[in-house]
Amino acid sequence: MASGKPESEQVPPKTPDLSTWYNAICYKAELVSLSPVRGCVVLRPYGYGLWERLQSALDERFKATGHENAYFPLLIPESLLTREAEHVEGFAPEVAWVTQGGTETLSERLAIRPTSEVVIGVMYAQWIQSYRDLPVLINQWANVVRWEKRTRPFLRTLEFLWQEGHTAHATEQEAAAEVQQMLDVYVDVAENICAVPVYKGEKSASERFAGAAHTFSIEGLMPDGRALQAGTSHELGQNFSKAYDITFAAEDQTIQHAWTTSWGMSWRMLGALIMVHGDDRGLRIPPRMAPIEAVIVPIVKAGNDEVALAARSLFKRLKDAGLRVKLDERDLRPGNKYADWEMRGVPLRIELGERDITQGVATLVRRDKAKGEEGGKVVVPLDEMVDRARGILEAIQNNLLARAREHLQSHTFMVAERNEFFRMCRERAGMIDIAWCERPECEAFIKVETSATSRNLRPLEGGPTACVACGEPARVRAYFAQAY
Ligand SMILES: [Zn+2]
Repeated sequence: MASGKPESEQVPPKTPDLSTWYNAICYKAELVSLSPVRGCVVLRPYGYGLWERLQSALDERFKATGHENAYFPLLIPESLLTREAEHVEGFAPEVAWVTQGGTETLSERLAIRPTSEVVIGVMYAQWIQSYRDLPVLINQWANVVRWEKRTRPFLRTLEFLWQEGHTAHATEQEAAAEVQQMLDVYVDVAENICAVPVYKGEKSASERFAGAAHTFSIEGLMPDGRALQAGTSHELGQNFSKAYDITFAAEDQTIQHAWTTSWGMSWRMLGALIMVHGDDRGLRIPPRMAPIEAVIVPIVKAGNDEVALAARSLFKRLKDAGLRVKLDERDLRPGNKYADWEMRGVPLRIELGERDITQGVATLVRRDKAKGEEGGKVVVPLDEMVDRARGILEAIQNNLLARAREHLQSHTFMVAERNEFFRMCRERAGMIDIAWCERPECEAFIKVETSATSRNLRPLEGGPTACVACGEPARVRAYFAQAY
């Protein structure tokens, strides 16, 4: 924003090339900057503001469900990491290592955490002695590093921000209930805060988290027909408690292994929000996620302080009422300011000119509506502004969700015929819903043929049927799609 230049005309259209549009928007809306570090982006203040909105929505829900925040070390000794065999095998290709401290070569390499099951498991082994110590319900807000080859802001970066919840329970049932509860928190935040509708379900064996017994995910659909996994929740069974000795004395005095879970959502969710809602003019941020819900643009003529004063007083009134509001008094043409805030996706613009003031009104412009679309501009009396702005923000939130849901539903296809299934997967038609055998060989074949993978699974309803892809007996229903 430093230059103040309207740059909207430089953004390529959203279709047909979503990817080019996406990258341009992330930089031009000043969410991120390229950094001098390969594969890492800088989260700029506006981007961080978005992250903070997501963070507070999640954090509030974690606490409401009995979780507490804690913090664990960034570095993990190699000997600890290798104790859970599947886990280390799954993460080995993307772990970054510290081999030297100052001038000294380390006797044991230290992994930079790709995730924290290991170090947290070691601590839980010390903290948990008795059934009375359970459950342990902890969340960590942290950065993690995974050595990715390609970089896209929010979707794939070497270092990223996330939260990881880690819990330990006395029984398998309790752990399973925790995993579903947190999956539902993710659905709630995705749909009701980010306005991104999702499908929830279990991941297939080949898409499962390394070391987990069951992995569940939420999956959104992007405008280019690719699915995006936006949150995962894992039943770790007793795999980690056996590898890291998390045992407790049960009520009957027997020594048992705890049942553990982990669950995470990262700033990837922001990537989904950007792609789902943005348009050719820039971002469109759902009000509940917006760092700035409304921007006031005074249309000031030289030598007339009246408009500026009225704008400041309106700003104060909205701010005092609890709205996240910004007053744009920069020395720029109003049109340039409009383009700036449109690019940044601020949901509501309040225009205030000389004539408005004499009439005691202001013009509200909705970012979710196209130019000229009905209801896009409303003239509102200044003394009704707080309530009207609140009402319109609510309408914008609902409208963005409804549009996104319409897109998801109209691009979800129940397919029963083999050739049609393969064709639709190849063409990225959307979420392709089939009866599936759940066999890894079948999934591998589909991937080679079409680049699509299973996104998540749900129970098969009705009588026995055959896998649409291979003809073997079906065991589940599955959404297939190419994915980010
Ligand atoms: Zn099959």
